[in-house]
Amino acid sequence: MSGLSYIGDYGSSSDDSDAYSGENIVSSEKVKLPTPNLRNVPVVGTEDHVDDPDLHKGRTRSFPHKRGNWASYVYIRYPEEENLTTLISRFVAECPGSDLHVCEDFHISLSRTVTLMYHLITPFTKSLQDAVDGIDSFDLGFKSVKIYCNEEKSRTFVSLAVDHFSNKYLLKIVDKVDDILVDYKLPTFYDNPSLHMSILWANGDKKAELTSVLDNLNNILYQEVEKCLKTVTVDRVNCKIGNKFYQFTLQ
Ligand code: AMP
Repeated sequence: MSGLSYIGDYGSSSDDSDAYSGENIVSSEKVKLPTPNLRNVPVVGTEDHVDDPDLHKGRTRSFPHKRGNWASYVYIRYPEEENLTTLISRFVAECPGSDLHVCEDFHISLSRTVTLMYHLITPFTKSLQDAVDGIDSFDLGFKSVKIYCNEEKSRTFVSLAVDHFSNKYLLKIVDKVDDILVDYKLPTFYDNPSLHMSILWANGDKKAELTSVLDNLNNILYQEVEKCLKTVTVDRVNCKIGNKFYQFTLQ
């Protein structure tokens, strides 16, 4: 079955005790009105958010947080994180001075991070659902190590570039997502999308430093692909909007 599923939020939702219970009637015979169940209503803070890089290993936000704007992006979640454990430790050992951190969630971005207004969330997810309908599941594999910097050059990533076959499928999805982004007047993905999964990151522009050990990293990848970096099947496209996760099942 193809379709949209709403997965959940970060953290806990509102307390069950807030839900209406038929016993919530006060003795003075005044009926106490039920507390509205706001469980599924996203809460937007009343103050503008102040970013504190110390809370997230020095990373700086790429664009300012603005009330009513929901940071959103489309991606493929890598379903077999444990496949990467040995590869990651070998990469870190190969770059002892680079202060590398392991990425928190392994994914392949299919869009930039864009900001969606709250009232556009439902139509946007519906458009994504329509767009992925009819796209087949496919096997995801990686072919080489690549080093990327973000546009602000504030972070550098050690990433695995997808193989030729996966690239064809992923580009098809990127094209469809781009069409939607154009409809919503949002920035599209890169002109030359280079589809990859980042596994390690460092603060600042460390591209030259990490590129100097690229051959060694590719050798390690070659050995680990053979041994334990198994091909996995991708059967869904994911989207994160604010703190909510959605998924769209492929055929
Ligand atoms: P990601 O792992 O998707 O967060 O990507 C890591 C970084 O790669 C992002 O900050 C992108 O800005 C950067 N990047 C640079 N060039 C490209 C490209 N051609 N295609 C995709 N991402 C790119």
